[in-house]
Amino acid sequence: MSANDLTRLRQHHNATIGLFVAFWLFVLVSIGVIEFFEISKRTQDSLIGTLFGAAIVLSLLQFTKRCPNCRANLGWQVRLSIPKNCHKCGAGLRQRPNGQGR
Ligand SMILES: [Zn+2]
Repeated sequence: MSANDLTRLRQHHNATIGLFVAFWLFVLVSIGVIEFFEISKRTQDSLIGTLFGAAIVLSLLQFTKRCPNCRANLGWQVRLSIPKNCHKCGAGLRQRPNGQGR
């Protein structure tokens, strides 16, 4: 496992967080639109469909987070964060790329 792997894991993690925030903003806006605007049933359905689609993509992203050392799936270990150690091989996953981990 290299520092590069840890950096990639962190990037994947940050992307997941970013999408998660964007998703919730989208959910709030959609609820606002459905509540306060006169929109057709069809627009409403496609809005809800998009929401479900986004939720699925988001879960896929979270559950494709893997340990760079043993490829164990990390998605089941934590909600939206990187675990300190891999549950399978015990590799430290939060070390800084320059080796000064805590
Ligand atoms: Zn591992």
